[in-house]
Amino acid sequence: MAVSDHADLERFMEGVKKRNPGQSEFIQAVQEVAQDVFDFIEDKEEYHEAQILRRIAEPDRVVSFRVCWEDDNHNIRVQRGWRVQNNNAIGPYKGGIRFHSSVNESVLKFLAFEQTFKNSLTGLPMGGGKGGSNFNPKGKSDSEIMRFCQSFMTELYRHIGPDIDVPAGDIGVGSREIGFMFGQYKRITNRWEGVLTGKGIEYGGSKMRPEATGYGAVYFLCNMLAHKDDSIEGKTAAISGSGNVALHAAEKFRELGGKVLTLSDSDGFIHDPDGIDEDKLAWVKDLKLNRRGRISEYADEFSGAEFHEGKRPWHVDVDCALPCATQNELEEEGAKALVDNGCIAVVEGANMPTTLEGVKIFHEARILYGPGKAANAGGVAISGLEMSQNAERISWNHDRLHDMLTDLMEGIHEKCVTYGDQGDGYVDYVKGANIAGFKKVADAMLAFGVV
Ligand code: GLU
Repeated sequence: MAVSDHADLERFMEGVKKRNPGQSEFIQAVQEVAQDVFDFIEDKEEYHEAQILRRIAEPDRVVSFRVCWEDDNHNIRVQRGWRVQNNNAIGPYKGGIRFHSSVNESVLKFLAFEQTFKNSLTGLPMGGGKGGSNFNPKGKSDSEIMRFCQSFMTELYRHIGPDIDVPAGDIGVGSREIGFMFGQYKRITNRWEGVLTGKGIEYGGSKMRPEATGYGAVYFLCNMLAHKDDSIEGKTAAISGSGNVALHAAEKFRELGGKVLTLSDSDGFIHDPDGIDEDKLAWVKDLKLNRRGRISEYADEFSGAEFHEGKRPWHVDVDCALPCATQNELEEEGAKALVDNGCIAVVEGANMPTTLEGVKIFHEARILYGPGKAANAGGVAISGLEMSQNAERISWNHDRLHDMLTDLMEGIHEKCVTYGDQGDGYVDYVKGANIAGFKKVADAMLAFGVV
C-alpha cells in the first residue's frame, strides 16, 4: 500500500470514529474491512467517486424502540429493542436477532455491517441487517420469554416483511423465541408469510437450518485444509461456546474423524482429554437445550474432565480452534498461546470472535485463519433457502439441502482464494472474504446511481 493510501485510510477511519463515538465494536468491524477494500479499489476510480465504502459503513437506518413487558412477579420491565437495516442493495435486509445483556447499538451495527459482506459471499440475494435487545433471557420462565417476544414483535412487525427485512435467530434467540415472534407477527398482520427464518419444521422451517452454521464452519475448515492437502482426520480441536453453533460444529468435527477437547459458556470452559464423544455430546445438548444448565456440570458427570472457571480454552494444546461463542472472545494472548502450541487452523463459528490484535498474530504466523463472515455463512445461507422454500410453498428434503450447504461453503472458500491468494502459497482469507463480499454489493450500488 502506498503512503498516500495509508493517509486516505487513516482519514477514512478518523471520519468513522467521529461519526460513531464510543461504538468500539462497529469501528473495529469497519477497520477490518477498510484496509482490504482500500487496497482493492486503489486503481478503481468509480468506487472512490461513488463513496461506496463510506455508504456501506453508514446503515440505511437504525430503528430503536421501547419494549415493555411484565415479569412473573407482576413488575413492569422496560428494555430497548433495535433493528439495524444496513444495506439492501442485493436483496431484502437479512440477519438475526440477539437477546443478550451486552447488546447495544454498536454491537448491532457491527453485526449488521458484517452480515452485509457475509450474505453477499453466499451468492444468494440477501442484504444485511441485525436486531436485538439488551433483554437477558437467562433464568427467565417460558411465559416471561413469551411475553417479551410478543412485545418485541409488536413494534418490530411494522419494519419487516418477506421482501423488506427477514430476521432470524442469534445469541439468545432459538426456535422457542422464533416461534413466539412468528406467532405474534401472524396475529397482528393476519398473514402467514416467510417473514422470519429458523422457524420450526411444522410451520415453514427448513431442514438443515439448525445444523447449518456449525456444520458449515467445519466444512469451511475442511476446504481450507484440503487446499493444503490435509484433512480433519486425527486432529484435535478447542471449541468455545455450547450453543447451537458450537454443538453442531463439535458434532461434525467428531464425525469427520477429529477429537473435540473443549466447550465453554460464560462461566468458564471444560477440558476433556479423552474427547467429547457422541454420547457426551448428546448429554450436553440435553443440558443446554432442555435443562438449560451450566457447562461446569459436565465435569461432575464425566470423570477425567476438568472445569476451568472464568477461563477460555485457548491455552489447551490443539491442532484447530473454533471460536463459536461471541465477539472478541479470542484476544492477542489467547491467539499467541494457540500459535505457540502449534495450532494450524482457526475457523470462526461466531461473529468477529477474534480481536484485531489476535488476527494480526494469526496472519504473522501464516496459519489457516477463516473469518466468521466466510466460515459461519452456512447458517444464513440455509436461511436464504428457507426464504426460497417459503416463497415456493414447498419443502426440500434433507439430502438436497445438505448438498446445497456443502456446495455453498465450497463456493465461499473458492471466492476467498480468488481474492485472497497471496501468490506464495498463503491465502489471506480475511482479505479474500472482504473483497469478494464488497465487490458484489458495491457493483449493485454503482448500478443504482446516487441513492
Ligand atoms: N445470526 C446468524 C448469523 O450471524 C444467522 C442469520 C440468519 O439466518 O438470518 O449469520
